[in-house]
Amino acid sequence: MYNQSELGNFENYLLEKKYSKKTSCEHVLNTYVFTGVVEFKKHRFKKVSLFLINIFDEKVLEIMSKIFFLLCIVISLVTIVIFLYSGISDWIYILGIISSLVPLIISLRIQSVLEYYQDTFCKECGKKLAYEEIGEPVMKETSSFGNYTLTVTRHWKCRYCGNVDIRESSENIFAEQGEMLPAFSLKHIECKKCSETGTIVEIKKPDIKEIGKRRLTRRYYKCTICGHEDINESEEVVNHRTC
Ligand SMILES: [Zn+2]
Ligand SMILES: [Zn+2]
Repeated sequence: MYNQSELGNFENYLLEKKYSKKTSCEHVLNTYVFTGVVEFKKHRFKKVSLFLINIFDEKVLEIMSKIFFLLCIVISLVTIVIFLYSGISDWIYILGIISSLVPLIISLRIQSVLEYYQDTFCKECGKKLAYEEIGEPVMKETSSFGNYTLTVTRHWKCRYCGNVDIRESSENIFAEQGEMLPAFSLKHIECKKCSETGTIVEIKKPDIKEIGKRRLTRRYYKCTICGHEDINESEEVVNHRTC
């Protein structure tokens, strides 16, 4: 359990990270729980989604997405087979492979349309494009010594029948425990309380999450001299994963 002075660390941590006042952190029985307000869900290709959802139903959109995905596989396979057995030139082969990406992109975009469909479809009154997000979406992160999980809770209200749906999910946000740093990497860190250097150790594996192109790493440090605990969060831009 954290005592009063240690709780001050969390306040500083939250202040440094410019978290909103509504963000809180609790530390109970070796488990850290971070709760903070996040933004409303952003849907990509909104105009296309509105257009397609007005015309088609969920099933049709699902079938369309599958057809375009299959088309991608067929075009690439045909291109490879022709390349291997009839000796087409390299540039036609490259053109064929690039062409196969077009239906793949369309398929993925339809997946985004489907997500918008599902988010805004009211099961209570059966209307499309009915739910609007209300209130304050909350992200809750739970980090213990062996596990790190993340959930987002959002409230959706139907503009036709007024039904409110509370949904909790991980929203496919990448979240995992990373590896602790080797001891020599901590040698230069100065304790914020006693100002000693080289006395810091990591007390548990770090939390890593990726939101959009941001990869956030949260590390838990403790000073072996004065016992001061500190949470450090760093951020880097990644290009290999989107959400
Ligand atoms: Zn409704
Ligand atoms: Zn210290």
